[in-house]
Amino acid sequence: MSETNPQPNPEHVIQVAVPRPLHAVYDYAIPAQLPLPAVGARVRVPFGRSETIGICTSTEVDHPHTKLKSVLAVIDQEPMVATDLLELAQWMTTYYHHPLGEVLATILPAAARKGAASTIDPHDFWHLRQEDFDNPRAKAQMALVATLKEQGPTSGTVLVASGHNRATLRKLADQDVVSRTSPPFKQDLEVGPKPNLEQRDAIDKILTESHAESAHSSNYVAFLLDGITGSGKTEVYLRVIAAIIAAGRQALVLVPEIALTPQTVGRFERRFARVGVFHSALTDHERLQTWLKCRAGEIDVLVGTRSAIFTPFRDLGVIIVDEEHDSSYKQQDGLRYSARDIAAKRAHALHLPVIFGTATPSLESLHNAQRQRYQHLHLTARAGGAQLPTYHLIDLRGQTLTDGMSVPLQHVIRRHLDQSGQVLVFLNRRGFAPTLLCASCGWQAMCPHCDARLTLHQSPPKLICHHCSTVLEVMKACEQCKQHALMPIGLGTQRTEAGLSKLFPEVPVYRIDRDTTRTTRALEAQFERINHGGQCILVGTQMLAKGHHFPDVTLVVILSADAGFLSPDFRAPERTAQLIVQVAGRAGRAQKPGEVWIQSYQPDNPTLRTLIKEGYGGFADHELKVRQTVGMPPEHAMAMLRADAFDPREAKAFLEHCKASLRDIEVLGPVAAPLARIANRYRYQLMLLSPQRATLHTALRQLNPPKTTHTLRWSIDIDPYDSL
Ligand code: ADP
Ligand code: ZN
Ligand code: ZN
Repeated sequence: MSETNPQPNPEHVIQVAVPRPLHAVYDYAIPAQLPLPAVGARVRVPFGRSETIGICTSTEVDHPHTKLKSVLAVIDQEPMVATDLLELAQWMTTYYHHPLGEVLATILPAAARKGAASTIDPHDFWHLRQEDFDNPRAKAQMALVATLKEQGPTSGTVLVASGHNRATLRKLADQDVVSRTSPPFKQDLEVGPKPNLEQRDAIDKILTESHAESAHSSNYVAFLLDGITGSGKTEVYLRVIAAIIAAGRQALVLVPEIALTPQTVGRFERRFARVGVFHSALTDHERLQTWLKCRAGEIDVLVGTRSAIFTPFRDLGVIIVDEEHDSSYKQQDGLRYSARDIAAKRAHALHLPVIFGTATPSLESLHNAQRQRYQHLHLTARAGGAQLPTYHLIDLRGQTLTDGMSVPLQHVIRRHLDQSGQVLVFLNRRGFAPTLLCASCGWQAMCPHCDARLTLHQSPPKLICHHCSTVLEVMKACEQCKQHALMPIGLGTQRTEAGLSKLFPEVPVYRIDRDTTRTTRALEAQFERINHGGQCILVGTQMLAKGHHFPDVTLVVILSADAGFLSPDFRAPERTAQLIVQVAGRAGRAQKPGEVWIQSYQPDNPTLRTLIKEGYGGFADHELKVRQTVGMPPEHAMAMLRADAFDPREAKAFLEHCKASLRDIEVLGPVAAPLARIANRYRYQLMLLSPQRATLHTALRQLNPPKTTHTLRWSIDIDPYDSL
């Protein structure tokens, strides 16, 4: 018997979840020389012809009769995935119909998945131990010692930034001249403004109903903090978190991807000493470090995007989901989970209060509030006394437009600029024009790989597909009739920017979209320039709609409200209304009242009318009734089966097979997706609906998908965010 393959000990068999798209966990034997791993520990195991890292999910396994492969190494002494996270993973497996190994791979930071050690880096903060150190021949060392003498304990990053190097630091540490020390607690923390009555009421309710401020008698209560933009929701979070920290516990704050800016984080850092951040722009190592520090209790408040919901904590006291309606909480590929829904699940399992804050609640959350599953808290006034903007509609029918702007609109813009206000122009399309059309024969420039038009971009001029990122040169003549009659049709941000510059040549125009601001730093620089004050026009996409304050903006323009309300997607009206209200919320935040002007070819559209007359609340009530009538979410539970392949017949046939095995639920399709082809793959979908969530899950458990070829891809999407 060879040493590398010892006889498995019949008493030591464990179950391991491996990160592979398979629904099973596997049994492995623990060889005699290895310790029995804890449940939740990482183990290295042979798999197929290679090896992989899996998570031990059980150590109480009946010894099967077949011969087992052996675990190669036990990586963790302590579980990497604590019991509560493992239970959450198991729940996600059944709820999202996804294999446990892949769920665990989603939960773990990449570095942990790859086997990195679970140790927290030592503090990179240095102090001087030998004041009288003297070595005239080591100039660099002497200089570093002088700096520490002068400045006191200093972080390594600062030392390097001021011209010292790591090697010098190491040499001094080896001689015990300097050593690591823990950084001092921040002293000059802000207290924040005194809460107004509505804020006080919200804070009191959250803290008392959930007993959140006492360390041991906590309770699950979910709150929908429904407050108009600028009403001071963030201030409510900060007060609740302060109480939680005072009780020795921790807080998790989820924010949308686009809102996690230095501005946002800075607000938390000015109030609390130990704030951590977690988002996709960090390195794998940084993400794992943050994860471990939260687990060890070295971070009090974690501010993070979607995947931060899986962070382990020593003693979590509250979960907050800011802008809960935001689409970035839903993962749109692989394991299509909703961080918002998992927040509710996790808070429930840990008996914690959870706060969903927004100015434009998702219909799901409103539905939960109506059924008393969530406590509905309102903030109806703007903090600091600012006024709400007024809404105005411009009927575009019969109007002459200049780059998308009607004459009345141009007058309004002029009026606001003359009063030295700032103007924000919103449209949700990047590029110059969404279509290049032949005026002679009607031909349009289409993406060769998608059923979609190419978007014309300028400087440099290119045709770009926004679905598959194909970039083509702009043709001189029509490809069909060869005439030189091509013209850009429709509006993108670049064209609007150019148009505004022509109409108001003396006013600076700033464009803010994914093309101008590829980095957060660039975005911040733009915002700083704007908030410096003075006349200017901002043109941009939804990047302008999220969380940023523009105190000097007095006019918000929605160039067209129509496209959003006409989309075939069942959530389009909800999304469009949210976007309009969020963009409008940027106006008049300081002492200057704001105006919102909306252009539309359908000024009588009842949805738009309701939104303008009754505000978001009125719109949402109306829209919820519509969803109820047609049997759509949140009234009915929905899942989407999607399949795509190079051959449309293959995708369709796959879904037809699936359909045949589905029982007791409503099944619509298979139909071609509204965007029927992307990157040469034909996309089909099957919509599953049921008034009972449990029935839908039962049906999906019995789903019997046919064997697939490697050319077909398919997925299950529970509670899909869109049907495109
Ligand atoms: P929201 O999160 O609802 O958009 P914020 O919490 O960001 O609102 O508050 C908007 C602005 O009002 C911020 O500048 C904030 O500092 C200020 N603010 C919040 N609450 C108060 C208050 N009670 N008194 C004075 N200013 C306040
Ligand atoms: Zn033509
Ligand atoms: Zn394309």
